[in-house]
Formats: sequence, structure tokens, C-alpha cells
Amino acid sequence: MATVMKVDRPIPPQVKLRIGSEDLATGSGGTFRHVDPATGKVQCEVPLAGIEEMNRAVEYAAVAFDVWRRWKPADRRDALLRLADLLDRHADEFAVFAALENGSPVSVGGGHARTAAAWTRYYAGWADKLDGSVSTTFAGDGEFTYTVSEPYGVIGCIITWNGPLTSLGMKVAPALAAGNTVVVKPSEITPFGADLYARLVRKAGIPDGVCNIVPGGIDAGEALVRHPKVQKITFTGGPVTARKILATCSELLKPAVLELGGKSANLIFDDADLDRAINFGVAMSVERMSGQGCAFASRMLVQRGVYKDVLARVVARVGQVRIGDPFDRDAVMGPVVNEAAMHRILGIIERTKASGAGRLLIGGKRAGGGLADGFYIESTVFADVDPDCELAQSEVFGPVLSIIPFDTEADAIAIANNTQYGLAAYVNTRDVARVHRVAGELQAGSISVNGAHPLKPTAPFGGHGLSGYGREGGRQGIEEFVRPKTVQISQF
Ligand code: NAD
Repeated sequence: MATVMKVDRPIPPQVKLRIGSEDLATGSGGTFRHVDPATGKVQCEVPLAGIEEMNRAVEYAAVAFDVWRRWKPADRRDALLRLADLLDRHADEFAVFAALENGSPVSVGGGHARTAAAWTRYYAGWADKLDGSVSTTFAGDGEFTYTVSEPYGVIGCIITWNGPLTSLGMKVAPALAAGNTVVVKPSEITPFGADLYARLVRKAGIPDGVCNIVPGGIDAGEALVRHPKVQKITFTGGPVTARKILATCSELLKPAVLELGGKSANLIFDDADLDRAINFGVAMSVERMSGQGCAFASRMLVQRGVYKDVLARVVARVGQVRIGDPFDRDAVMGPVVNEAAMHRILGIIERTKASGAGRLLIGGKRAGGGLADGFYIESTVFADVDPDCELAQSEVFGPVLSIIPFDTEADAIAIANNTQYGLAAYVNTRDVARVHRVAGELQAGSISVNGAHPLKPTAPFGGHGLSGYGREGGRQGIEEFVRPKTVQISQF
């Protein structure tokens, strides 16, 4: 029997503002005309929250906090476990919504839901493990001192469009596990998956108002940051927006976690397993998510002894990348998110070609043929890239890989550290002593060796420099959402 290679393109779901027990089909922020990145056509109008609805959501979350923080930790854990199961069960539906909203191929889109489920399950387990401590008795003072970990209250979560479900798992799950309530502002570009997530939160038995999902634009985001009842902000996006958010936070003395961009280096030493290093390096730069990943390895640094060989193998591997309509089950790479992103990325490619700052090996233009109407860019690789040029220094956030040669370990480290970002770095070598030396010198929040994945619920993830601060993942990820309270008891 012939296999069906194409999934039907559905009508987009009707998005609502999920505020407390209310589902609003309209908002004072107007509407967003949602364009399907695969076809370039408007596919629906998405309602946007304005200041009014955002304020209402925060009020709901503040009321719900008084209830949720009193839930037994084990009950919060069980509710989050039910949510994780639901996320897994709806993975196919999430995959279809991701294809509609940001062009993720359906062949990979279910993985985002499963990732969110894994993070939710991991943090569910923390709900009843947030211990305090007993302080050393201060000699002879006759007092007993202990600490408890308390939730902040309402957390404002602002997320972007490239991995919205993963961000929900990374932010909402630990915030709720710790007893906070949240108001989430997803990007207006990715409202469909977030809307399904909101419906599943209810289905999991999490009380109304604990997790409010409110799509909106910049005004809504600013209102969320500014609201006096929002105790902390957790933000995923770019450094330009982060600066604006921090300006408001600094005025209000409000804490924030910032998960920003990256320009991560992937060091390939001449003793590396090249097949493995190249497969991973291409997948994690130009193939997955069309290169739109914060921690992606967009700079490949290759030792001179294997440089020529690596260039040939990279070109061969890139030639196998299956670009196509996100609803085509064969495609692993879809379009970039919108027309503006496509022109921005093509602009960087053109300027690199014109300046001679890199030598184009493959790709370099918008995809044609049956894909000409969508926002598709061919997987693009430049070799001999000047480490100081625009391509090597700016976050392209698209399917463009820079390859840079190096001679010594010290050169590789210097080139790798020569950016303002510091989110992730990658090392490929069989030399264990070198792994430790190089990992110790690289200025990045996470170092992955020989194909280890940089993002997992059990380990902290976050950046240095322009990549932001604060951590998601592991114990540190939930500690962002609690603060210690010290209780001192006189025994007299
Ligand atoms: P962006 O900063 O433009 O937008 C992010 C979010 O902020 C959106 O929801 C947007 O509506 C909102 N926003 C915009 N202006 C605002 C304001 N003044 N006040 C409050 N909210 C506001 O980011 P983008 O271009 O959509 O996303 C791409 C960036 O996100 C890249 O830099 C990428 O590396 C980064 N990113 C980082 C991580 C991470 O975990 N480190 C993960 C994914 C993406």
C-alpha cells in the first residue's frame, strides 16, 4: 500500500485570550493577520490582548495565587503530571499547529510537545522537594532559625515564536510547581499551540487563573512587565527587547530572567569523529528549525588538518537536507518564520557575498519551484569566513552556516570567544584532556561535546553577555521562581 506523504493542511484553530475562566474571542489590542510562512498567504486573524486584558489577566493570577500556593505540593505535582501526559497525547495536534504558525515540518513538530512534556514532568517532581534549611545556631543566642522557599506570586512570562512549546515547558512548569501563578504572553506569530496548551492546562485540573495565556503585541508585553502585581519576569527573545524590558524592571526594581540569542561556536578538532561532528553540525545550524534556534551552532570552527575534508563533507550533507512544505512528511526543513525574517537573512547573505568576507559553498538564495511563494531559504554555507565580519558576529537566526579555519587549540578558543554572545558552545574531539581544557576556557553557559544535546530539563541552560542571564533547567531553573524566607524564633 502506498504511504500518504502529505498531511492535510487544516483550517487554523480559533485562538482566544484565556484569562481566568474567560475565553475572549476579541481583545482591545486589535487583531494580527497571520500569514502562513509556507504559502505567503493570510490564513486567519488572531485576537490580541491590549493593556486592558493584560491587566485583567494579572488580577486573575493574583487571586489564583492565594489558592494555588496553598495547594499541597504533591497535588501541584500530580496536576503537572496530568498536564505532561496531555501534552504527549496531543503531540500530533501540536505538530500540525506548529506547521501552520511557524513552518515547523510535521515530521519534527511533535517533538516540541514531547519536549514540553518532559520538562513539565521533570518540574512536577520538584513540587514537593523544595526544601529550606536550618541555620547554624548563632553561639548562645538561644534562637532557632530556618528558611522556607516561597513562591514569588504572579510571574510574567514573555516568549518568542521559534520554540514556543519548549519555552512553556521551561517557564510555566517550574513556576507552577513552585506555587506561583503565571500570565504568559506568547508571540502573536505563534498563538495556535499556546491556545491548545491553555486548554490542556484546564483539562489537567489546574484551577482557573493559575495559568493565563494571553496573545498580544508589544503593548500587551509592556503592560505585563509594568504591572505592579507581577513579581518577576521571565523572558525569551532578543537582546533589543530585553534591554527595554530591563529598563522597566530597573525602574520598578523587578527581577528578571533573560534567555536571549547566541552565536555559538562548534569546534571540530582534527582527531574528531568527522561523520558524527558534521551530521550534528549541519543539523544544528541549517537544517533543524531552518536555523532558527538560539543555541544553534552557527559558527563551525575547523582545524586546518581536516579543513578541506570537512568542507567537502559539509556540502555533501547539506545537499541531502530535505526542504519542503511543512505538511510534507518527508520534509525536515521548512520556511523561515515570515517575510521580514527572510529579507533580513537574505540581506546578510548578499552583504557577505559582496564584501568577500566569506566564500559561498552552497545555497545562498530563496528557494524556487513549488516553494517560491513561501519564505524558504536554501541551506547556505560560507567557508573561509572572516571571524570579525557581520555574518560571524551577528545572530542570523536562519539557515546560514559560517565555517572558519583554525590552527591551534588556543586559536580555536580565541575565535570561539570573540563574540558578545555566550549561550552554548560545542566541541568535537576524542581527546578527553582537551575536552576539559577547552570546556574550561569557552565563555558560554553550556558546552556540549561530541553531539551531546545542549538543552535538557535536568541541567541548567542560559547565557553570558548578550545571551542574557538566569537559568532554565535543573535545580537552578526552579530556584529562579522561589525566594527564601528566614524565620527566627526566640526560645525564651
Ligand atoms: P523579540 O525580542 O522581538 O520578541 C520576543 C517576545 O517579546 C515576543 O513575544 C514579543 O511580542 C515580545 N516583546 C516585544 N517587544 C516587547 C516589549 N517592549 N515589552 C515586552 N514584550 C515585548 O524576539 P524575536 O525576534 O521574536 O525572537 C528571536 C530571539 O529569541 C533570538 O534572539 C533568539 O536567539 C531568542 N531566543 C532565545 C532562546 C533562549 O532560550 N536563550 C530561545 C529561543 C529564542
